[in-house]
Amino acid sequence: MGTLTVKAYGAESKTADLAEINIERREVTTKDVEIEILYCGVCHSDLHTARNDWGGSLYPVVPGHEIVGRITNVGSEVSKFKVGDLAAVGCMVDSCGHCDSCKHDLEQYCENGFTGTYNGKDKHLGGHTFGGYSQKVVVDEGFVLSVPENLDLAAVAPLLCAGITTWSPLRHWNVGPNSQVAVVGLGGLGHMAIKLAKGLGAEVTLFSRTPGKTEDAKKLGADHVIISTEQEQMDAVKAKFDVIIDTVPYEHDINPYMQTVALNGTLVLVGFVGEFENEFPSTRPMIFQRRSVAGSLIGGIAETQEMLDFCGKNNIVSDIELIKIQDINNAYERMLKSDVKYRFVIDMKSL
Ligand SMILES: [Zn+2]
Ligand SMILES: [Zn+2]
Repeated sequence: MGTLTVKAYGAESKTADLAEINIERREVTTKDVEIEILYCGVCHSDLHTARNDWGGSLYPVVPGHEIVGRITNVGSEVSKFKVGDLAAVGCMVDSCGHCDSCKHDLEQYCENGFTGTYNGKDKHLGGHTFGGYSQKVVVDEGFVLSVPENLDLAAVAPLLCAGITTWSPLRHWNVGPNSQVAVVGLGGLGHMAIKLAKGLGAEVTLFSRTPGKTEDAKKLGADHVIISTEQEQMDAVKAKFDVIIDTVPYEHDINPYMQTVALNGTLVLVGFVGEFENEFPSTRPMIFQRRSVAGSLIGGIAETQEMLDFCGKNNIVSDIELIKIQDINNAYERMLKSDVKYRFVIDMKSL
């Protein structure tokens, strides 16, 4: 199979800084789309994969799964896209296509495992996939999204992971104009959860541990901010929320939030992947008010397109800080300190 060599930014080992490297992309096959990458968002998964925090990283790691760009080439059988179109790629570039999940537009839950945009198994070239910190990417058109022309392109990039990760549970749990939604954590995911829930017409509350975030949360569209360490404030929202989107990325005590879930309501974990080793959820709030604790992973391709179209219609994008690729290592350090409002996006021209 023919390939093209493109510039990228990657980590050669778990302790190495990211630096410029060359990678190979396949030439478009009949169903492929080749995209010149204009912007790529910076997700916490990028950092954790580059540093092998979750194990299993394959080097060199070229992170990036919030990709926005313009199409520069299409295969002979591509029907949805043409050269010059704006396009986006999120966390997946392939899946088996024939399991029950795939047949129901739930590629993220593919029974045979979806192909990650980076660190996935490359079915075409062998080896592993490389993400969006690069000049170009070649992806099967079934995993390429259309981007509304009216939005700020750099600020669209985070919708492809942070956006869909919060959109999917909001839609699955039927959030609409009569819903009470709460969001735990105000980072990349949390700020999108507020904007999208608000866009869907819900009344939105942010749970924060410190008072300092109130003004920012209200600017993003939150109707209320509850300081979760203030018992009186927590008591005032007992059994209030139909859906809580919990974006906190580490083990934490969900019991105080469970009391605020309404009868039949659900607390959805989207940020923390792992074991509760010290902070055990009690079954009491679940049993006595038929509340649920659930999890949710990104979203399917059709649902991602639905979200992008919704954002186009409602003028919703992420709040970002645009950086050059040469600043990525510093950006990772700042992310570890939550020193970003609310997502870094790389201007790929800098590569
Ligand atoms: Zn991500
Ligand atoms: Zn499948």
